[in-house]
Amino acid sequence: MDRRKFIKGAGIGIAAGALAAPAIVHAQQPEIKWRCASSFPKALDTIFGAAEVIAKKVSAATNGKFEIRVFAGGEIVPGLQVTDAVQAGTVECGHTANYYYIGKDPTFAFDTAVPFGLNARQQTAWMIHGGGLELMREFLKDYNIINFVAGNTNAQMGGWFRKEIKSLKDLQGVKFRIGGWGGTVFSKLGIVPQQIAGGEIYSALEKGTIDGAEWVGPYDDEKLGFNKIAKFYYYPGWWEGGPQLSLNVNIKAYEALPKDYQAILEAACYEAHAWMMAKYDAQNPAALRRLIQGGTQLRLYPKEVMEAAHTAAFALYEETAAKNEKFKKVYESWKKFREEQLLWFRVAEQGFDAFQFAQSAKGQTTKKKT
Ligand code: CA
Repeated sequence: MDRRKFIKGAGIGIAAGALAAPAIVHAQQPEIKWRCASSFPKALDTIFGAAEVIAKKVSAATNGKFEIRVFAGGEIVPGLQVTDAVQAGTVECGHTANYYYIGKDPTFAFDTAVPFGLNARQQTAWMIHGGGLELMREFLKDYNIINFVAGNTNAQMGGWFRKEIKSLKDLQGVKFRIGGWGGTVFSKLGIVPQQIAGGEIYSALEKGTIDGAEWVGPYDDEKLGFNKIAKFYYYPGWWEGGPQLSLNVNIKAYEALPKDYQAILEAACYEAHAWMMAKYDAQNPAALRRLIQGGTQLRLYPKEVMEAAHTAAFALYEETAAKNEKFKKVYESWKKFREEQLLWFRVAEQGFDAFQFAQSAKGQTTKKKT
């Protein structure tokens, strides 16, 4: 090599070294270790898995400097006390469904789902572009929490019963495990609602402490084994058209993070959100097929049950809005957004889906004949 060229090349080498300085700064970023309490059992690779998606992405994007260790429901705190633990700073963050905490204030429900509320697409739209996230952050600030959209199960099934529900009469006195505000609405129809964490439902059903239970949908419900105890599988889960999961982060812990870690955490939550929705949609069809092959009987909720629940739900919202200012503020945004979404979804989405379903059903009929 020509000596002059070599010297020139070395010069470039020094310049490149100077340009690489930001990488050195990055290497000096602090090592941070967080604990994340999940509300869910490890066996559920969907809803529990979403918190692990966040942890893995955060670690990979910070070269292992920012580590989040995820604990299942019951390991640090019971599954239904995750938000309390985040509020108190016992853990830096928690992955949960905020409707578990409606006992503190029913406004929590809007962060997850309320009966006859938004589907998964609409909930995501409300949160990210409809003002929902700002409203829920304002509300959760009083609990020392900043929340991040971090998963959705999509529309849920309506749960498992040992006996058929043919009319409103069949609901009287039935002890039913149900998440969130659906229980309050269902209680107006005669059900005795029970809020039980995911990991404890099976034993309550097996012991006969409860008569029926709902969780999420075919993929999770099969893993939890409800089909072994109850035969009738109802749909739709009218109280959970698109329930969202959130990563609740203690505000002090969040504010102590370097700005790039904050951005990485937010991006990881959005990844988990898309990941969870896709996983449920990908896994549910085969799980439903297996359940039916194993003897599960599908049943549609009677129209009179759905209609009575719808009336009871909106009466409850109006009643609550009249006495709870925080609730009213969120409810008004949500209600307006929901009405607009229902109008829009009746056009292109319904037009496309209804045609597709009808064609698919025709295909099934043709197959049976041959
Ligand atoms: Ca549920």
